[in-house]
Amino acid sequence: MSNTLPTAIIGGGPVGLAAAAQLVKRNMPFVLFERGAHIGASVLSWEHVRMFSPWEFNVDSAAKDLLLETGWIAPEQDQMPTGKELVQLYLEPLSQLEQIKSFIHLESTVKAIYRKGFDKMKTAGRNTAPFMIEYETQGQKLHVEASAIIDATGTWLTPNPMSASGNFADGEKEHADHILYGIPDILESNKARYAGKNIVVVGSGHSAIQSLTLLHELKLQVPETTIHWVLRKKNVSEAFGGGENDGLPARGVLGSRANQFVQNGNVLVHTPFLIAQIKADEERSTLSLLGTKDSQDYSIDKIDEVIVATGARPDFTFLRELRYSADSAIESVPQLADLIDPNLHSCGTVRPHGEAELRQPEKNFYIVGSKSYGRAPTFLLATGYEQVRSVVAALAGDYEAAREVRLNLPETGVCSAPKSLLGENEAASCCTPKPKKLTFKPITVTTASDCCGSPQNDKEPSCCDSSK
Ligand SMILES: Cc1cc2nc3c(=O)[nH]c(=O)nc-3n(C[C@H](O)[C@H](O)[C@H](O)COP(=O)(O)OP(=O)(O)OC[C@H]3O[C@@H](n4cnc5c(N)ncnc54)[C@H](O)[C@@H]3O)c2cc1C
Repeated sequence: MSNTLPTAIIGGGPVGLAAAAQLVKRNMPFVLFERGAHIGASVLSWEHVRMFSPWEFNVDSAAKDLLLETGWIAPEQDQMPTGKELVQLYLEPLSQLEQIKSFIHLESTVKAIYRKGFDKMKTAGRNTAPFMIEYETQGQKLHVEASAIIDATGTWLTPNPMSASGNFADGEKEHADHILYGIPDILESNKARYAGKNIVVVGSGHSAIQSLTLLHELKLQVPETTIHWVLRKKNVSEAFGGGENDGLPARGVLGSRANQFVQNGNVLVHTPFLIAQIKADEERSTLSLLGTKDSQDYSIDKIDEVIVATGARPDFTFLRELRYSADSAIESVPQLADLIDPNLHSCGTVRPHGEAELRQPEKNFYIVGSKSYGRAPTFLLATGYEQVRSVVAALAGDYEAAREVRLNLPETGVCSAPKSLLGENEAASCCTPKPKKLTFKPITVTTASDCCGSPQNDKEPSCCDSSK
């Protein structure tokens, strides 16, 4: 394969752009495809939401170095940006850097990636064939060759439906004009839609609680607003998180607030409610949600609007001709599953990991960023930045740098893991209760001890070498 071919980055979110910065720092050619008309398109769909991690954790180190060279003024380390500020103050200037700008293709949706001349089944010679990327832009189908692929497409564009079946609930598509997925801008652009209405929020994660917080604010302004909260969890307290033990105080506050809204009666909880159907009420001006609660038929009637925040799932459709693997439960990169499995950890903390853990069966293909976590909701940008630093080091042949993984993450302070699951490993679990901490020392892990599959490149020593 020609070594002048670029690395193709799919997705121009924070992690895709960090990969671009890492490649610039190593003087390696790249091309970046972004579906949206703007860089950070998915972040912009939650632009009104304030992040819970401060700037300190939100800027990639290679990107920062490049930006500082041009006189960029870094935002205050301890301030928490909104999604819009993340894009305007950081991603946008990064994307405009001379070394990056001309390699970004906006409004370019990647539809398929494959090895040139190879279908998925064909093995001999596969690793030396270039990748082909098929993308659509302005109604045209185009192709480009690449030496490596970094898939940083996130999961935001493929939200889970409201039904626990994984499929849309009956009527979910039919009543789509009364349903929004994610975190709508409740206090500004969608205010008229929600003010004084009967609204149901479905889901138990941070996104659901963000929407409840905004709706609560709206209810203080327009008291006729009614807020219902539907959870599949048995007990609503499981959704409250680590509270003041959370290493990111703003994230901890989210759960504490939700608790307060439930206690003061402003949020009506329905749990464990499994939704099966959404249908128009008899008078046809409102909707009903139907399903089961504790195995009994259950419904909420006279609803105007539903906000679905039941998480998101990775999209593998454009990878069909590549040899990729994903964990059967979490749909994450397989080696990450044990680190982020919500059955074991409700923590945002994850052991430092890099290129070795992110390897796919297809050589020089990596899934990074929030997509690497699959359905687990605990991804943090700092994790993704370290992932792409390590991946790009390996692509550059700098295996020492690829293996030395450093990560400095705040913890959630949550312990949700049953002792039976943790067993002897409880002490090592990130869910072990810890005293409140706001900052953490970087942990350095050389993954030589974390045996990690076969080397990607002929020159690379195997970390499974028994002499180690
Ligand atoms: C409301 C909210 C608040 C969050 N707050 C924090 C926080 O405080 N701290 C923190 O560390 N993390 C936070 N996160 C988690 C995480 O950091 C973000 O989700 C982050 O945006 C993930 O970055 P990413 O680059 O992996 O993916 P994304 O930001 O989702 O970017 C993926 C990009 O790929 C593009 N794309 C998708 N498919 C294609 C395709 N086929 N072809 C071309 N382009 C494509 C999309 O348009 C998008 O721009 C938050 C997440 C949400 C939703």
